[in-house]
Amino acid sequence: MNIAFIGLGNMGAPMACNLLKAGHRVHLFDIDKNALAELASQGGQISESPAQAAQGSELVITMLPAAAHVRRVYLDDNGVLAGIQPGTPAIDCSTIDPQTIRELADIAAAQGVTLSDAPVSGGTAGARAATLTFMAGGSSEHFERIKPVLAQMGRNIVHCGDTGTGQIAKLCNNLLLGISMIGVAEAMALGDALGIDTQVLAGVINSSTGSCWSSQSYNPWPGIVDTAPASRGYSGGFAADLMLKDLGLAAQAARSAHQPVMLGALAEQLFQAMSQRGEGGLDFSAIIQAYRR
Ligand code: NAD
Repeated sequence: MNIAFIGLGNMGAPMACNLLKAGHRVHLFDIDKNALAELASQGGQISESPAQAAQGSELVITMLPAAAHVRRVYLDDNGVLAGIQPGTPAIDCSTIDPQTIRELADIAAAQGVTLSDAPVSGGTAGARAATLTFMAGGSSEHFERIKPVLAQMGRNIVHCGDTGTGQIAKLCNNLLLGISMIGVAEAMALGDALGIDTQVLAGVINSSTGSCWSSQSYNPWPGIVDTAPASRGYSGGFAADLMLKDLGLAAQAARSAHQPVMLGALAEQLFQAMSQRGEGGLDFSAIIQAYRR
């Protein structure tokens, strides 16, 4: 299959690589020439613009930093919608607000193109291992069309409902993740300050009612989980600045629905303070440093 892949960063590059491994002809575009050259050396075809990548492709996938980049890549004079053939499906896998993807989907629909959202979770390790979870919005018919290709980059491919619901699922999950990580950090630091061995405390929490993914698989206290960023100086993993972006999107979506997100707002401020201290590039579990003596 001819597939256009636009946005070859930390996530997009390994995702596109998995499509190349699956035998697709992948037409690449990124504003970063090095990212393009790297994927071209693995068999991808370099395009001069999103329009050129989309031209003749049977599917378009975008994986970009934020909503402004997604708008540009689809709507610019040499954007995807200037090159794509009517009837070709397009999927945006970036994490953005639900409103933007709905607006873009309406514009695309006016020229016979079905564009939908399919943000991911699983991080760069999941992107490399093709074990991502895709949270897809859009019609059932569109979902059935794109699912086989998503399954070559991920393990759990979930249809969440209409266009935008993939983003809603992603924002709600990351809202909870940001809050739960702070909760685990607070409990671990309190236990240490009061004098319990943190290994013993983590063991008790993980077999008790406080257990969650943040305590079990990604504990923010160093040395509890060997594979967690806390055990390698909070490098790699999911940057605090990306968590801050997702909490901001959740807050924005909550405002539009007049829905309170009290703990989410507090979590956003704590990650904002971390970013201000110049620690936004560290894994988000380094939020525990706000508690440690
Ligand atoms: P990244 O910054 O590493 O990559 C983004 C890529 O988009 C870069 O290569 C950049 O050059 C390219 N780009 C920017 N503007 C462009 C344009 N106008 N035209 C073409 N290319 C352009 O980001 P990432 O970590 O790959 O994340 C991508 C998306 O996935 C984000 O929305 C992020 O929130 C989401 N996400 C990231 C992770 C993670 O762990 N990194 C996990 C889940 C979801």
